[in-house]
Amino acid sequence: MSIKVDKLSYTYQPDTPFEKEALYDLTFEIPDGQITAIMGHTGSGKSTLAQHFNGLLLPTDGSCTVNGLLVNSKNLKEVRQHVGMIFQYPEYQLFDETVLKDIAYGILLRGVDPVEAEKRAADAMRLVGLDPETLGNRSPFDLSGGQKRRAAIAGVLVMEPEILVMDEPAAGLDPEGRREILNLVRTLNKERGITVVIVSHSAEDMAELADNILVLRQGRLHAYGTPREVFSDSSNLEEAGLELPLAKQLLINLSQFLPGLDTGAYTVEGATEAIIQYSRGEAHE
Ligand code: ADP
Repeated sequence: MSIKVDKLSYTYQPDTPFEKEALYDLTFEIPDGQITAIMGHTGSGKSTLAQHFNGLLLPTDGSCTVNGLLVNSKNLKEVRQHVGMIFQYPEYQLFDETVLKDIAYGILLRGVDPVEAEKRAADAMRLVGLDPETLGNRSPFDLSGGQKRRAAIAGVLVMEPEILVMDEPAAGLDPEGRREILNLVRTLNKERGITVVIVSHSAEDMAELADNILVLRQGRLHAYGTPREVFSDSSNLEEAGLELPLAKQLLINLSQFLPGLDTGAYTVEGATEAIIQYSRGEAHE
């Protein structure tokens, strides 16, 4: 198990008039080598939870263990070697003169020599689909929105994390930028074997991408399972302030007119298949 959370609670500013309990008694495990989505309504605690995975926040109660390592104030450096964290709008943290220098910054701090660091930064650029030859020596501020986001992600990937925690990595991008980021997440997981934890409120995106979905509601664990399981109970999702993926909503609506239509699918591809199967069955009758 890559991440193990045991009876974790978190309170912001405890013992002050601003005290806010954000997470309550969470217990779950996130499996290795898969993509796990954390979903929930705004304010349900997604970002707070994600920040526990690299020790940016430490539990008020309970514990978080990453690759067998208990996350506490003494081993943050080691934890962060396992876990790369991509915050919301990570491109706001780009700062260096060139894209390559910006990406190499983290490994230079770790003592990698500058020539090797530049080589690894170029590799990380290729990994996220940016050409180091043409873009490496440009200012990061000259890149497009989607390219900036990918450069910022390369700055985390260059550290070779085994676990990547991403908070809304596609937020605010145009449809093409979103698709590129989601494809990148898939590639990192399927081809590089990186365990991905992704915070998202898009049922559509997570239906296509996630192996598991964890739903938070007001800081509590509301549901946890495969997309098929989690999306099978629309009233449970609605309670958490979430909607079903549109493809599944379409199947449910159609099933009122097409009795016997299988409504189990939750992706566009799956729904298309279900409708084709249904129409073939109709044709035989
Ligand atoms: P989400 O990511 O699901 O939108 P958050 O983890 O940001 O939710 O927030 C969970 C709860 O904690 C919310 O009620 C939010 O207002 C509160 N919260 C978040 N950050 C802070 C903070 N720095 N201080 C006090 N309360 C906070």
